[in-house]
Formats: sequence, structure tokens, C-alpha cells
Amino acid sequence: MRQNITNIIEKLSQFHNVTDNELLTLLKDALSEDENRLLCQRADECRKKIYGTDVYIRGLIEFSNYCINNCYYCGIRRENQNVKRYRLSKDEIIECCIQGYALGFRTFVLQSGEDPYYTDDILCYIIADIRTRFKDCAITLSIGERSKESYKAFFEVGANRYLLRHETASDSHYARLHPDELSLANRKKCLFDLKEIGYQVGAGFMVGSPYQTPEHLLADLRFLQELSPDMIGIGPFIHHADTPFANMPNGTLEMTLKLLSIIRLLFPDVLLPATTALGTIHKNGRELGLKAGANVVMPNLSPSGVRENYTLYDNKICTGEEAAACISCLSQRVQSAGYSLVTDIGNRRFI
Ligand code: SAH
Repeated sequence: MRQNITNIIEKLSQFHNVTDNELLTLLKDALSEDENRLLCQRADECRKKIYGTDVYIRGLIEFSNYCINNCYYCGIRRENQNVKRYRLSKDEIIECCIQGYALGFRTFVLQSGEDPYYTDDILCYIIADIRTRFKDCAITLSIGERSKESYKAFFEVGANRYLLRHETASDSHYARLHPDELSLANRKKCLFDLKEIGYQVGAGFMVGSPYQTPEHLLADLRFLQELSPDMIGIGPFIHHADTPFANMPNGTLEMTLKLLSIIRLLFPDVLLPATTALGTIHKNGRELGLKAGANVVMPNLSPSGVRENYTLYDNKICTGEEAAACISCLSQRVQSAGYSLVTDIGNRRFI
């Protein structure tokens, strides 16, 4: 093991300030097997100190794949004519929650493209109904950029968490991933608005997105330190055949695991999912993610008939199974990695 790399890993795990240069060294260098093992072990020790072996589950309900945006990486971008578009009604969404509750879910994540069909009024009506029926559950929204007033209205009727990945903290990189009408400045504003309103907020980015450099990743980590989110969602970029990035290489397992561990050490008490995208690029991706410091999984609760239409990237896993089958498979996977799924609202345990 190289002394300088070992020193940086130990410094991270003792929560000493790590310099930009040290982080860049860690991000740039391909780590040896021993160095990777050390990083992963330190991250796992850190998660166990705070979360034990508990793994929180979130039920993901992908309620619409209509989107007004045209992000270059995303399979449900508006210009993709090959998507079979769908929307779930309030009753269909509630049905997913009822099923999910019976399976032990205490967090529902409502995710969609940016779909103006769901006005503030319609969303408030849906959220309020879920809130009335499931008082002991968290309601998480992941529906993109809206005004502060809209975010406030959703919060007031019972939503309490919000996932909005910042995607990249570099303006120039942001412009290579998105058309001109989208800006990093607005994305950041949304995140700070959400925090101010009182949401538990999740930000994050894709690992290995096209044109990403170690310097971009450093900026991502520094932005996350500034925002101090409750959740950080990262997963590998995976190309989608019907997007402008169809021929771009995917993010790698190694880089995603390395970043999960670095994030666990930089943000010891953060909620950190082992994502479906990670499970898609490697058959044991999610198990390896948990071992590298992740403590959340987000199985799909969407009706199986629509799942295959919510394809942000190619070869997405678990698009065929019913929720119950999904959760029993996942539960075994989590156990095989040495952790256990818990029935819990799964709040951040502040240190
Ligand atoms: N419309 C919502 C939800 C977006 S989908 C929003 O704007 O937040 C959730 C996340 O999936 C995105 O934030 C993005 O980081 C990720 N994603 C999209 N396309 C992807 C791809 N091709 N590979 C991997 N992740 C992708």
C-alpha cells in the first residue's frame, strides 16, 4: 500500500480536514486491492458506528414518465419518441402505498419526470391523502424543479423529504449534460429553498457521467459539504440507446464504490442508498455498495405493468417482478452482505 494513499484514507476516517489535493489524489489514482479494502473497511466501520447493520428501505413509486425536460442522459427526455408514456392516478398511487405498507415500507418516494399535468393542486390532493392514511410514514418527493411556493404547499400537506440530485456542481459540466434552458444555479436554488422550508433534503450526482473529471467530482463533494444534505444519492451513469449519450461509456463499479466510501467518511451520518443503477452495472452491485458504506435501498413499488416504461437507462433491473418478490429477493441480498432490512421510517441519525 502506498503511504500517501493510506494517510489520506486514515485522515478521512478520523474526520480531519482533507485538502483539495488529497481528495484529488484519492479520486484520480486507481487504488490497489489493499487500498480499496482499507477505504471500504473504514467506511463500513463508520456506518456501523451510527447505523449498526440496519438498512432502510424506501418504496419507489414512479408515478409518471412524462417529462418536459430534455436532459441528454435521460431515457424519458421529452424528445424520446420511443417511450410509452404513462401516468398513475391517485388511487393507483395509494394502492402502491397500501401494498408497500403491508410489506414493511415506512417511506414512500414519489418520483416522476417533470410533468405539468400534476399541478400543485393535484399533487397536494395526492400527498394529503397519503398523509391521512399513513401517519407513521415519510413521504418523499422527487419531481424536479418547482417554485418555492409549490414546495411549501407540498410540505404543508405532509411531504417531508425531497430528492433532487444536483447532477454536477460545475456550471460548464452542467451545460454539457443539459440543454440551455436548465441551469445549475436554479437547481441549487431549489435545494436551498427545500432546506429552508424544512424538508430533509437529498442531493447527488451520477458517477462517470459524460465528460466528468476528478475536478468535477471534487466540486461535487465540496458543494455537498456546503449544502449539508440529509441524503446523498449517487449511482453510475448508464447510457440509454435513445439519447444523445447512447454511445458514451457507463460509469464503473469501482469508481462508484470508491465514491460511496469517501462520501460515508466525509458525511458520517448521511443516508446513502445503494442504487438500482449500481445493481444494474454489476449483479452484486447493491450488496457491494452496502459494504462500501451505503445504508439505504430503494426497491420499486410501481405497478409492474408500468415499470418497464420508466427507463432512465438501458437494462434496468427489477422491472418485471411484483413488489413482494422484489423485497424478498432484496432482503436475502442484504442479509448475504451481512446487514438487515428494517421496518423503520429511517430518519437520519444525527451524530
Ligand atoms: N425528474 C426528477 C427525477 C429524475 S430521475 C428530477 O429532476 O429530479 C432521478 C435521477 O436519475 C436523476 O436525478 C439522474 O441523476 C438519474 N439518471 C437519469 N438518467 C440516468 C442515466 N442514464 N444513468 C444513470 N442515472 C440516471
